[in-house]
Amino acid sequence: MSAHIKRIDLTRDYAAHQAEYREAIERVCQDAAFSGGKYADAFDREFADYVGVPYACGVNNGTSALHLAMLALGVGPGDEVIVPANTYIATAWGVSYTGAIPVFADCTPDTWELDTDLLEARITSRTKGILGVHLYGQPFDYAGAREVADRHGLFVAEDCAQAHGAKFEGKNVGSLGDIACFSFYPGKNLYAFGEGGSVTCKEESYYRHMTRLKNQGCDVTYYHDEIGYNYRLEGLQGAVLSVGLKLLPQWTRRRQEIGRRYIREIANPLIQMQAHPQNTETVFHLFVIQVEERDRFIQYMADADVECNRHYPVPCHLQKAYAHLGYRKGDCPNAERLAKRCVTLPLFPEMREDEVDRVIELCNEFR
Ligand SMILES: *Cc1c(COP(=O)(O)O)cnc(C)c1O
Repeated sequence: MSAHIKRIDLTRDYAAHQAEYREAIERVCQDAAFSGGKYADAFDREFADYVGVPYACGVNNGTSALHLAMLALGVGPGDEVIVPANTYIATAWGVSYTGAIPVFADCTPDTWELDTDLLEARITSRTKGILGVHLYGQPFDYAGAREVADRHGLFVAEDCAQAHGAKFEGKNVGSLGDIACFSFYPGKNLYAFGEGGSVTCKEESYYRHMTRLKNQGCDVTYYHDEIGYNYRLEGLQGAVLSVGLKLLPQWTRRRQEIGRRYIREIANPLIQMQAHPQNTETVFHLFVIQVEERDRFIQYMADADVECNRHYPVPCHLQKAYAHLGYRKGDCPNAERLAKRCVTLPLFPEMREDEVDRVIELCNEFR
């Protein structure tokens, strides 16, 4: 019998890099630089360099990053922002927190990313912008979104929570749109030992405004110029993220090696794969496939001691939290079909070659 294969196993990274992580944490403790501070600031500079933008604003998680990004772009009550129906729900929360309304658009039947051909029909006089998501590590059609946005005077924001290091037409995600949001939740391609996030941008005024908002609305301590939030990045997380950022290129290469093996070697008419357009470079945050008899497939893998899961079983427009917006089944048919059929295969940088072999073999033997 072969050993249990987890969908993702973070313990292997800590085991491999324990000394570096512990040293980084020790320095923060000795300097007592716990909330914001020099280690959080140092990570911001390193991350901005990595993405290729002047500014990165570290925050306490990816959901706060989305909220701050919407506030910086001036989104508020009554406004509308177009977001994909196929995403993690937090994409839409960032819009809702400002009092604005997320307007859901379907994904394409092959890339499973935002269908930019559907954007125009979703635009109203209240639309402020488009918040695209590079879901599963695969960049959405940024050029398509930009073209529609420019024609209507809208912003394009990127949700990069699953796509650290991915590229669209040779440019890093996070440097394409007006503003971009990252999450460092454990399990994301770059992760904190707890929670973390960042907003990247080229516009200095956005950066300044978000820095004030995350810091209780003040530029000068105890002088509060507007209602703010406590959304600062912790020093310990900044230090851990600086260690991770150095490892990110090698993690990404390994994810791509595994992902490409799955694409090349899994051949089963019962399994449909995501399309990866030529002008993009995916970083395989999640390897999602579609299987008609999804639950039977997950059980079949579980019986063979391989853990799979689902991203995501309910599309945003059909979540109870958004029932008041009045969407119906059939409004986003591609996202709905995916929600019923999606399976996420095991994929993480520390996965061993024999484990990859086993997943491929099982996929090919499924009848
Ligand atoms: C993880 C994730 C978020 C939220 O990030 P948190 O750090 O968990 O708050 C937002 N959008 C997408 C697409 C995500 O995958």
